[in-house]
Amino acid sequence: MTTDCLFCKIAAGHIPAEKLYEDDELLAFRDIAPQAPVHFLVIPKKHIQDPTGVAKEDEGLIGRMMRTGSKVARENGITDFRLVFNNGAEAGQTVFHIHMHVLGGRSLNWPPG
Ligand code: C5P
Repeated sequence: MTTDCLFCKIAAGHIPAEKLYEDDELLAFRDIAPQAPVHFLVIPKKHIQDPTGVAKEDEGLIGRMMRTGSKVARENGITDFRLVFNNGAEAGQTVFHIHMHVLGGRSLNWPPG
């Protein structure tokens, strides 16, 4: 755990979140400011700053994030959804602990803003 990281604190249970799924490696929780009827985040409990920081040894973990996000999306009633990883402030990243947004439940525009 990185002590000054918000998502490490959520993963450790020190800051509350509305959890949808949890295991030893991953946590899925509802986004506090939803941008779609279904909007949740999937994070690894291990601190990785951003997609650029994903090491070879983390490849399986990132695959599990996708599989888990898809499963939780289905459990929340959506079959069509968007998975988003923001990498860096210019791309919209505000929390520097890697996270995958899962958004659905409405028509989504492309390209994003
Ligand atoms: O990709 P980005 O870094 O912008 O996304 C961070 C997301 O974390 C935001 O959608 C924000 O609403 C969410 N968040 C949250 N709970 C917090 C703080 C931020 O769900 N306590």
